[in-house]
Amino acid sequence: MDHEELKHWSKRAADWTAEYHQGLRDRPVRAKVEPGAIATELPQSPPEYPDSPATIWEDFCRIVPKGITHWQHPRFFAYFPANAAPASMLAEQLANAMSAQAMLWQTSPAATEIEQVMIGWLTQALGLPSERVGVIHDSATTATLSAVLTMREQALDWAGLSRGLSGAPQLRIYASPETHSSIDKAVRLAGIGQDNLVKVPTDAGLSMKPGALAGAIRADRAAGMLPAGVILCAGSTGVGAFDRIADCIAVARAEGLPVHVDAAWAGSAMICPEFRNLWAGIEEADSIVFNPHKWLGVQFDCAVQFLRDPGPQVRTLGLRPSYLETAGREEIINFNEWTVPLGRRFRALKLWFVLRAYGLEGLRTRIRNHVDWAREACEALRALPGLTIVTEPSLSLFSFRLETEEATAALLQRINDDGRIYLTQTRHQGEFVIRVQVGQFDCTRADVQMIPAVVAELMREI
Ligand SMILES: *Cc1c(COP(=O)(O)O)cnc(C)c1O
Repeated sequence: MDHEELKHWSKRAADWTAEYHQGLRDRPVRAKVEPGAIATELPQSPPEYPDSPATIWEDFCRIVPKGITHWQHPRFFAYFPANAAPASMLAEQLANAMSAQAMLWQTSPAATEIEQVMIGWLTQALGLPSERVGVIHDSATTATLSAVLTMREQALDWAGLSRGLSGAPQLRIYASPETHSSIDKAVRLAGIGQDNLVKVPTDAGLSMKPGALAGAIRADRAAGMLPAGVILCAGSTGVGAFDRIADCIAVARAEGLPVHVDAAWAGSAMICPEFRNLWAGIEEADSIVFNPHKWLGVQFDCAVQFLRDPGPQVRTLGLRPSYLETAGREEIINFNEWTVPLGRRFRALKLWFVLRAYGLEGLRTRIRNHVDWAREACEALRALPGLTIVTEPSLSLFSFRLETEEATAALLQRINDDGRIYLTQTRHQGEFVIRVQVGQFDCTRADVQMIPAVVAELMREI
Protein backbone atom coordinates (compact mmCIF):
# COMPACT_ATOMS: atom_id res chain seq x y z
CA MET A 1 0.00 0.00 0.00
CA ASP A 2 1.38 3.40 -0.92
CA HIS A 3 0.41 6.86 0.24
CA GLU A 4 -2.08 7.45 -2.59
CA GLU A 5 -3.88 4.26 -1.61
CA LEU A 6 -3.69 5.30 2.02
CA LYS A 7 -5.49 8.52 1.11
CA HIS A 8 -8.24 6.59 -0.68
CA TRP A 9 -8.74 4.00 2.04
CA SER A 10 -8.52 6.51 4.88
CA LYS A 11 -11.53 8.28 3.40
CA ARG A 12 -13.35 4.95 3.20
CA ALA A 13 -12.38 4.32 6.82
CA ALA A 14 -13.72 7.74 7.84
CA ASP A 15 -17.10 6.95 6.23
CA TRP A 16 -17.09 3.51 7.79
CA THR A 17 -16.38 5.06 11.22
CA ALA A 18 -19.39 7.36 11.07
CA GLU A 19 -21.70 4.61 9.77
CA TYR A 20 -20.45 2.16 12.37
CA HIS A 21 -21.16 4.54 15.22
CA GLN A 22 -24.53 5.63 13.87
CA GLY A 23 -25.58 2.00 13.45
CA LEU A 24 -24.43 0.70 16.81
CA ARG A 25 -27.89 0.57 18.39
CA ASP A 26 -28.87 -2.05 15.80
CA ARG A 27 -26.05 -4.39 16.81
CA PRO A 28 -25.97 -6.71 19.84
CA VAL A 29 -23.63 -5.13 22.40
CA ARG A 30 -21.66 -8.28 23.19
CA ALA A 31 -20.04 -10.27 20.36
CA LYS A 32 -22.15 -13.33 19.48
CA VAL A 33 -19.44 -15.68 18.25
CA GLU A 34 -18.23 -19.03 19.51
CA PRO A 35 -14.60 -19.37 20.67
CA GLY A 36 -12.31 -20.05 17.70
CA ALA A 37 -14.86 -18.93 15.08
CA ILE A 38 -12.95 -15.81 14.03
CA ALA A 39 -9.53 -17.51 13.94
CA THR A 40 -10.80 -20.18 11.52
CA GLU A 41 -11.74 -17.46 9.01
CA LEU A 42 -8.09 -16.44 8.66
CA PRO A 43 -5.53 -18.39 6.58
CA GLN A 44 -3.08 -20.41 8.63
CA SER A 45 -0.03 -18.74 7.03
CA PRO A 46 0.93 -15.19 6.05
CA PRO A 47 0.74 -14.25 2.33
CA GLU A 48 3.97 -14.48 0.32
CA TYR A 49 2.78 -11.78 -2.11
CA PRO A 50 0.76 -8.59 -1.51
CA ASP A 51 -3.00 -8.75 -1.07
CA SER A 52 -4.83 -5.81 -2.62
CA PRO A 53 -6.15 -3.16 -0.22
CA ALA A 54 -9.66 -3.91 -1.54
CA THR A 55 -9.54 -7.56 -0.44
CA ILE A 56 -7.99 -6.63 2.91
CA TRP A 57 -10.84 -4.15 3.37
CA GLU A 58 -13.50 -6.69 2.39
CA ASP A 59 -12.12 -9.24 4.82
CA PHE A 60 -12.08 -6.65 7.58
CA CYS A 61 -15.76 -5.86 6.99
CA ARG A 62 -16.70 -9.54 6.74
CA ILE A 63 -14.73 -10.94 9.67
CA VAL A 64 -13.99 -8.31 12.30
CA PRO A 65 -17.08 -6.33 13.37
CA LYS A 66 -19.13 -9.43 14.18
CA GLY A 67 -16.34 -10.52 16.54
CA ILE A 68 -16.26 -7.22 18.39
CA THR A 69 -17.98 -6.42 21.67
CA HIS A 70 -19.10 -2.88 20.99
CA TRP A 71 -17.61 -0.77 23.75
CA GLN A 72 -18.89 2.39 22.08
CA HIS A 73 -22.46 1.02 21.99
CA PRO A 74 -24.76 3.45 23.84
CA ARG A 75 -26.19 0.52 25.82
CA PHE A 76 -22.84 -0.77 27.06
CA PHE A 77 -23.35 -0.91 30.85
CA ALA A 78 -20.72 -3.57 31.63
CA TYR A 79 -17.33 -3.23 33.40
CA PHE A 80 -16.50 0.46 33.17
CA PRO A 81 -16.80 2.53 30.00
CA ALA A 82 -13.84 2.85 27.63
CA ASN A 83 -15.21 5.86 25.84
CA ALA A 84 -13.91 7.19 22.53
CA ALA A 85 -15.49 10.56 21.84
CA PRO A 86 -15.40 11.57 18.15
CA ALA A 87 -12.90 14.35 18.89
CA SER A 88 -10.63 11.80 20.55
CA MET A 89 -10.77 9.49 17.54
CA LEU A 90 -9.86 12.38 15.28
CA ALA A 91 -6.87 13.31 17.43
CA GLU A 92 -5.72 9.68 17.41
CA GLN A 93 -5.86 9.62 13.61
CA LEU A 94 -3.55 12.61 13.51
CA ALA A 95 -1.24 11.22 16.20
CA ASN A 96 -1.10 7.96 14.23
CA ALA A 97 -0.32 9.86 11.05
CA MET A 98 2.73 11.45 12.68
CA SER A 99 3.57 8.36 14.77
CA ALA A 100 6.17 10.25 16.75
CA GLN A 101 7.92 8.91 19.84
CA ALA A 102 7.29 11.15 22.82
CA MET A 103 10.05 9.72 25.00
CA LEU A 104 12.21 12.85 25.19
CA TRP A 105 11.39 16.52 24.81
CA GLN A 106 13.54 16.74 21.69
CA THR A 107 11.97 13.67 20.07
CA SER A 108 8.80 15.80 19.75
CA PRO A 109 8.69 19.05 21.71
CA ALA A 110 4.95 19.49 21.01
CA ALA A 111 4.13 16.13 22.60
CA THR A 112 5.96 16.94 25.85
CA GLU A 113 4.75 20.53 26.08
CA ILE A 114 1.09 19.77 25.29
CA GLU A 115 1.28 16.95 27.84
CA GLN A 116 2.52 19.40 30.49
CA VAL A 117 -0.20 21.92 29.66
CA MET A 118 -2.89 19.19 29.68
CA ILE A 119 -1.77 18.05 33.14
CA GLY A 120 -2.16 21.67 34.23
CA TRP A 121 -5.64 21.89 32.69
CA LEU A 122 -6.66 18.67 34.41
CA THR A 123 -5.46 19.80 37.85
CA GLN A 124 -7.80 22.77 37.47
CA ALA A 125 -10.61 20.64 36.06
CA LEU A 126 -10.44 18.23 39.02
CA GLY A 127 -9.87 20.92 41.65
CA LEU A 128 -6.35 19.71 42.56
CA PRO A 129 -3.60 22.01 43.83
CA SER A 130 -2.21 23.98 40.89
CA GLU A 131 1.41 23.08 41.64
CA ARG A 132 0.69 19.38 41.07
CA VAL A 133 2.65 17.95 38.12
CA GLY A 134 2.00 14.72 36.28
CA VAL A 135 2.51 12.38 33.38
CA ILE A 136 0.40 10.27 31.03
CA HIS A 137 0.83 6.47 31.18
CA ASP A 138 -0.76 3.80 29.03
CA SER A 139 -2.85 2.39 31.88
CA ALA A 140 -3.65 2.77 35.55
CA THR A 141 -1.87 -0.55 36.07
CA THR A 142 1.46 0.91 34.97
CA ALA A 143 0.91 4.14 36.89
CA THR A 144 0.27 2.14 40.05
CA LEU A 145 3.30 -0.06 39.37
CA SER A 146 5.40 3.11 39.03
CA ALA A 147 4.04 4.38 42.36
CA VAL A 148 4.72 1.06 44.11
CA LEU A 149 8.27 0.81 42.72
CA THR A 150 8.85 4.33 44.02
CA MET A 151 7.47 3.41 47.47
CA ARG A 152 9.78 0.39 47.53
CA GLU A 153 12.87 2.41 46.67
CA GLN A 154 12.05 5.24 49.07
CA ALA A 155 11.68 2.68 51.87
CA LEU A 156 14.98 1.01 50.89
CA ASP A 157 16.76 4.34 50.47
CA TRP A 158 17.28 3.44 46.80
CA ALA A 159 19.29 0.33 47.57
CA GLY A 160 16.91 -2.02 45.72
CA LEU A 161 17.79 -0.48 42.36
CA SER A 162 21.44 -1.40 42.69
CA ARG A 163 21.55 -4.37 45.05
CA GLY A 164 18.25 -6.03 44.38
CA LEU A 165 15.87 -7.29 47.05
CA SER A 166 17.65 -10.33 48.40
CA GLY A 167 18.67 -9.56 51.95
CA ALA A 168 16.35 -6.53 52.02
CA PRO A 169 13.86 -6.12 54.89
CA GLN A 170 10.34 -7.45 54.39
CA LEU A 171 8.45 -4.57 52.76
CA ARG A 172 4.75 -3.96 53.43
CA ILE A 173 2.10 -2.11 51.41
CA TYR A 174 -1.41 -1.37 52.76
CA ALA A 175 -4.70 -1.27 50.84
CA SER A 176 -8.34 -2.18 51.38
CA PRO A 177 -9.87 -5.45 50.14
CA GLU A 178 -11.94 -3.36 47.70
CA THR A 179 -8.91 -2.23 45.67
CA HIS A 180 -8.35 -3.30 42.08
CA SER A 181 -6.23 -6.32 41.14
CA SER A 182 -3.71 -3.93 39.56
CA ILE A 183 -2.51 -3.23 43.13
CA ASP A 184 -1.90 -6.96 43.67
CA LYS A 185 -0.10 -7.09 40.34
CA ALA A 186 2.08 -4.11 41.25
CA VAL A 187 3.27 -5.61 44.55
CA ARG A 188 3.99 -8.91 42.80
CA LEU A 189 5.96 -7.29 39.97
CA ALA A 190 7.80 -4.97 42.34
CA GLY A 191 9.22 -8.00 44.13
CA ILE A 192 7.41 -7.10 47.34
CA GLY A 193 5.20 -10.17 47.12
CA GLN A 194 1.48 -10.67 47.35
CA ASP A 195 1.70 -11.77 51.01
CA ASN A 196 3.09 -8.35 51.88
CA LEU A 197 0.08 -6.51 50.53
CA VAL A 198 -1.84 -6.02 53.76
CA LYS A 199 -5.59 -5.84 53.15
CA VAL A 200 -6.76 -3.53 55.92
CA PRO A 201 -10.35 -4.18 57.09
CA THR A 202 -13.15 -1.87 56.00
CA ASP A 203 -16.16 -0.43 57.83
CA ALA A 204 -19.82 -0.88 56.91
CA GLY A 205 -19.42 1.81 54.24
CA LEU A 206 -16.63 -0.27 52.59
CA SER A 207 -13.97 2.34 53.53
CA MET A 208 -10.64 1.33 55.01
CA LYS A 209 -10.70 1.78 58.80
CA PRO A 210 -8.06 4.41 59.63
CA GLY A 211 -7.55 2.91 63.10
CA ALA A 212 -6.99 -0.54 61.60
CA LEU A 213 -4.47 0.96 59.16
CA ALA A 214 -2.51 2.54 62.02
CA GLY A 215 -2.66 -0.72 63.97
CA ALA A 216 -1.43 -2.80 61.03
CA ILE A 217 1.51 -0.48 60.34
CA ARG A 218 2.61 -0.47 64.00
CA ALA A 219 2.25 -4.22 64.36
CA ASP A 220 4.39 -4.76 61.25
CA ARG A 221 7.07 -2.38 62.53
CA ALA A 222 7.08 -4.17 65.88
CA ALA A 223 7.56 -7.46 63.99
CA GLY A 224 10.64 -6.06 62.22
CA MET A 225 9.01 -5.44 58.84
CA LEU A 226 9.37 -2.29 56.72
CA PRO A 227 6.12 -0.44 55.87
CA ALA A 228 6.59 1.28 52.49
CA GLY A 229 3.32 2.93 51.50
CA VAL A 230 -0.47 3.08 51.49
CA ILE A 231 -2.74 2.70 48.45
CA LEU A 232 -6.22 4.15 48.75
CA CYS A 233 -9.16 3.62 46.54
CA ALA A 234 -11.48 6.33 45.25
CA GLY A 235 -14.20 4.41 43.43
CA SER A 236 -13.55 0.67 43.45
CA THR A 237 -14.17 -1.43 40.36
CA GLY A 238 -16.46 -3.94 42.03
CA VAL A 239 -19.05 -1.67 43.62
CA GLY A 240 -17.59 1.87 43.64
CA ALA A 241 -16.27 1.94 47.23
CA PHE A 242 -14.38 5.00 48.46
CA ASP A 243 -11.81 5.02 51.24
CA ARG A 244 -11.96 8.00 53.61
CA ILE A 245 -9.02 9.70 51.95
CA ALA A 246 -8.40 12.48 54.50
CA ASP A 247 -8.47 10.17 57.54
CA CYS A 248 -6.29 7.49 55.96
CA ILE A 249 -3.77 10.02 54.64
CA ALA A 250 -3.52 11.49 58.15
CA VAL A 251 -2.53 8.04 59.44
CA ALA A 252 0.00 7.54 56.63
CA ARG A 253 1.52 10.98 57.27
CA ALA A 254 1.84 10.29 60.99
CA GLU A 255 3.65 7.05 60.09
CA GLY A 256 5.81 8.78 57.47
CA LEU A 257 4.44 6.73 54.56
CA PRO A 258 3.67 7.91 51.00
CA VAL A 259 0.12 7.54 49.64
CA HIS A 260 -1.04 6.61 46.13
CA VAL A 261 -4.75 6.98 45.30
CA ASP A 262 -6.39 4.83 42.62
CA ALA A 263 -9.24 6.88 41.14
CA ALA A 264 -9.04 5.18 37.73
CA TRP A 265 -12.79 5.30 37.11
CA ALA A 266 -14.20 7.90 39.51
CA GLY A 267 -11.51 10.52 38.88
CA SER A 268 -13.36 11.73 35.79
CA ALA A 269 -16.44 12.58 37.89
CA MET A 270 -14.34 15.03 39.92
CA ILE A 271 -14.70 17.60 37.14
CA CYS A 272 -18.08 18.12 38.87
CA PRO A 273 -17.44 20.00 42.15
CA GLU A 274 -20.47 18.38 43.84
CA PHE A 275 -18.77 14.95 43.79
CA ARG A 276 -15.43 16.07 45.24
CA ASN A 277 -16.57 15.39 48.82
CA LEU A 278 -16.15 11.70 47.91
CA TRP A 279 -12.36 12.16 47.80
CA ALA A 280 -12.02 14.98 50.35
CA GLY A 281 -8.40 15.28 51.45
CA ILE A 282 -7.06 14.26 48.02
CA GLU A 283 -4.75 17.29 47.86
CA GLU A 284 -2.52 15.58 50.45
CA ALA A 285 -1.91 12.46 48.28
CA ASP A 286 1.61 11.94 46.92
CA SER A 287 0.36 10.22 43.76
CA ILE A 288 -3.07 9.93 42.13
CA VAL A 289 -4.05 7.99 39.02
CA PHE A 290 -7.19 8.48 36.96
CA ASN A 291 -8.12 7.22 33.52
CA PRO A 292 -9.51 9.79 31.09
CA HIS A 293 -9.84 6.65 28.92
CA LYS A 294 -12.72 5.45 31.03
CA TRP A 295 -15.44 8.00 31.67
CA LEU A 296 -14.03 11.23 30.20
CA GLY A 297 -14.23 10.28 26.51
CA VAL A 298 -10.50 10.26 25.79
CA GLN A 299 -10.02 6.87 24.26
CA PHE A 300 -7.72 4.12 25.44
CA ASP A 301 -4.93 4.50 26.21
CA CYS A 302 -4.69 7.51 28.52
CA ALA A 303 -4.02 7.19 32.25
CA VAL A 304 -2.97 10.36 34.07
CA GLN A 305 -0.81 10.23 37.18
CA PHE A 306 -0.54 13.37 39.30
CA LEU A 307 2.51 13.70 41.54
CA ARG A 308 3.17 15.99 44.47
CA ASP A 309 6.91 15.67 43.86
CA PRO A 310 8.16 13.81 40.78
CA GLY A 311 11.67 13.53 42.27
CA PRO A 312 11.36 10.10 43.91
CA GLN A 313 9.61 8.51 40.89
CA VAL A 314 12.17 9.92 38.43
CA ARG A 315 14.96 8.72 40.67
CA THR A 316 13.36 5.25 40.64
CA LEU A 317 12.46 4.93 36.96
CA GLY A 318 14.78 7.37 35.19
CA LEU A 319 17.91 6.29 33.39
CA ARG A 320 19.91 8.59 31.18
CA PRO A 321 22.33 6.62 29.00
CA SER A 322 24.43 8.78 26.67
CA TYR A 323 22.22 8.03 23.66
CA LEU A 324 19.26 9.61 25.47
CA GLU A 325 21.03 12.77 26.57
CA THR A 326 19.83 16.12 25.25
CA ALA A 327 22.96 18.20 24.91
CA GLY A 328 22.81 21.44 26.83
CA ARG A 329 19.23 20.87 27.99
CA GLU A 330 19.59 18.71 31.09
CA GLU A 331 16.87 20.64 32.89
CA ILE A 332 14.21 19.80 30.35
CA ILE A 333 11.51 17.24 31.18
CA ASN A 334 11.97 13.90 29.46
CA PHE A 335 8.81 12.03 30.32
CA ASN A 336 10.28 8.55 29.75
CA GLU A 337 12.08 9.07 33.06
CA TRP A 338 8.70 9.22 34.80
CA THR A 339 7.31 5.97 33.32
CA VAL A 340 8.14 2.29 32.91
CA PRO A 341 8.42 2.08 29.09
CA LEU A 342 10.92 4.21 27.21
CA GLY A 343 8.80 4.65 24.08
CA ARG A 344 5.71 6.78 24.52
CA ARG A 345 2.77 7.56 22.27
CA PHE A 346 1.59 11.14 21.78
CA ARG A 347 -1.44 10.76 24.06
CA ALA A 348 -1.83 14.39 25.09
CA LEU A 349 -3.24 15.32 21.70
CA LYS A 350 -6.55 13.52 22.28
CA LEU A 351 -6.90 15.12 25.71
CA TRP A 352 -6.44 18.53 24.11
CA PHE A 353 -9.02 17.79 21.40
CA VAL A 354 -11.60 16.35 23.82
CA LEU A 355 -11.33 19.10 26.43
CA ARG A 356 -11.76 21.71 23.69
CA ALA A 357 -14.43 19.99 21.60
CA TYR A 358 -16.85 19.43 24.52
CA GLY A 359 -15.61 21.90 27.12
CA LEU A 360 -15.68 21.02 30.80
CA GLU A 361 -19.36 21.97 30.92
CA GLY A 362 -20.21 19.52 28.13
CA LEU A 363 -18.32 16.74 29.90
CA ARG A 364 -19.90 17.60 33.28
CA THR A 365 -23.38 17.44 31.78
CA ARG A 366 -22.71 13.94 30.50
CA ILE A 367 -21.39 12.70 33.84
CA ARG A 368 -24.24 14.32 35.78
CA ASN A 369 -26.77 12.74 33.41
CA HIS A 370 -25.16 9.33 33.83
CA VAL A 371 -25.34 9.63 37.62
CA ASP A 372 -29.01 10.74 37.52
CA TRP A 373 -30.05 8.09 35.00
CA ALA A 374 -28.27 5.34 36.95
CA ARG A 375 -30.27 6.34 40.06
CA GLU A 376 -33.49 6.26 38.04
CA ALA A 377 -32.69 2.81 36.68
CA CYS A 378 -31.84 1.64 40.20
CA GLU A 379 -35.24 2.78 41.53
CA ALA A 380 -37.07 1.10 38.64
CA LEU A 381 -35.21 -2.16 39.34
CA ARG A 382 -35.85 -1.90 43.10
CA ALA A 383 -39.58 -1.93 42.36
CA LEU A 384 -39.38 -5.36 40.70
CA PRO A 385 -40.51 -8.14 43.06
CA GLY A 386 -37.81 -10.76 43.62
CA LEU A 387 -34.98 -8.34 42.81
CA THR A 388 -32.72 -6.87 45.52
CA ILE A 389 -30.42 -3.88 45.15
CA VAL A 390 -27.20 -5.06 46.82
CA THR A 391 -25.07 -1.92 46.62
CA GLU A 392 -26.63 1.51 46.23
CA PRO A 393 -25.47 3.83 43.43
CA SER A 394 -21.94 5.10 43.94
CA LEU A 395 -21.86 7.83 41.29
CA SER A 396 -23.28 5.81 38.37
CA LEU A 397 -22.52 2.26 39.59
CA PHE A 398 -24.78 -0.10 41.55
CA SER A 399 -25.44 -3.82 41.81
CA PHE A 400 -28.40 -6.16 42.24
CA ARG A 401 -29.29 -9.83 42.54
CA LEU A 402 -32.27 -12.14 42.37
CA GLU A 403 -33.24 -14.53 45.15
CA THR A 404 -30.63 -17.19 44.39
CA GLU A 405 -27.20 -17.19 42.79
CA GLU A 406 -28.43 -19.60 40.10
CA ALA A 407 -31.28 -17.26 39.16
CA THR A 408 -28.98 -14.22 39.11
CA ALA A 409 -26.45 -15.99 36.89
CA ALA A 410 -29.20 -17.29 34.58
CA LEU A 411 -30.64 -13.79 34.25
CA LEU A 412 -27.23 -12.32 33.39
CA GLN A 413 -26.70 -14.98 30.75
CA ARG A 414 -30.10 -14.21 29.20
CA ILE A 415 -29.50 -10.46 29.24
CA ASN A 416 -26.22 -10.78 27.40
CA ASP A 417 -27.46 -13.36 24.90
CA ASP A 418 -30.38 -11.02 24.18
CA GLY A 419 -27.90 -8.29 23.22
CA ARG A 420 -29.94 -5.12 23.74
CA ILE A 421 -27.91 -4.22 26.82
CA TYR A 422 -24.65 -5.55 28.25
CA LEU A 423 -24.09 -6.06 32.00
CA THR A 424 -21.35 -7.91 33.91
CA GLN A 425 -21.02 -9.49 37.34
CA THR A 426 -18.87 -9.25 40.44
CA ARG A 427 -18.78 -10.95 43.80
CA HIS A 428 -19.69 -8.67 46.69
CA GLN A 429 -19.13 -10.01 50.22
CA GLY A 430 -19.43 -13.52 48.84
CA GLU A 431 -22.58 -12.85 46.83
CA PHE A 432 -22.78 -13.10 43.04
CA VAL A 433 -24.22 -9.74 41.91
CA ILE A 434 -24.93 -8.06 38.59
CA ARG A 435 -23.19 -4.70 38.18
CA VAL A 436 -24.79 -1.79 36.37
CA GLN A 437 -22.71 1.24 35.40
CA VAL A 438 -23.91 4.09 33.23
CA GLY A 439 -21.16 6.00 31.47
CA GLN A 440 -21.08 5.52 27.71
CA PHE A 441 -20.39 8.83 25.98
CA ASP A 442 -23.39 8.72 23.61
CA CYS A 443 -25.96 7.02 25.82
CA THR A 444 -29.32 8.70 26.33
CA ARG A 445 -31.90 8.47 29.06
CA ALA A 446 -33.93 6.15 26.83
CA ASP A 447 -30.93 3.83 26.50
CA VAL A 448 -30.61 3.66 30.28
CA GLN A 449 -34.34 3.05 30.70
CA MET A 450 -33.84 -0.09 28.62
CA ILE A 451 -32.02 -1.64 31.62
CA PRO A 452 -35.10 -2.08 33.86
CA ALA A 453 -37.27 -2.82 30.82
CA VAL A 454 -35.04 -5.66 29.60
CA VAL A 455 -34.44 -7.01 33.11
CA ALA A 456 -38.20 -7.08 33.90
CA GLU A 457 -38.95 -8.83 30.60
CA LEU A 458 -36.24 -11.49 30.94
CA MET A 459 -36.85 -12.09 34.66
CA ARG A 460 -40.25 -13.48 33.73
CA GLU A 461 -38.51 -16.20 31.72
CA ILE A 462 -36.39 -17.44 34.65
C1 LIG B 1 -10.02 0.05 35.44
C2 LIG B 1 -9.37 0.18 36.75
C3 LIG B 1 -8.00 -0.07 36.89
C4 LIG B 1 -7.14 -0.60 35.78
O1 LIG B 1 -7.07 0.30 34.72
P1 LIG B 1 -6.11 0.02 33.47
O2 LIG B 1 -5.92 1.40 32.91
O3 LIG B 1 -6.84 -0.88 32.57
O4 LIG B 1 -4.85 -0.56 33.97
C5 LIG B 1 -7.43 0.16 38.12
N1 LIG B 1 -8.17 0.58 39.16
C6 LIG B 1 -9.49 0.82 39.07
C7 LIG B 1 -10.26 1.33 40.24
C8 LIG B 1 -10.13 0.63 37.84
O5 LIG B 1 -11.44 0.87 37.73
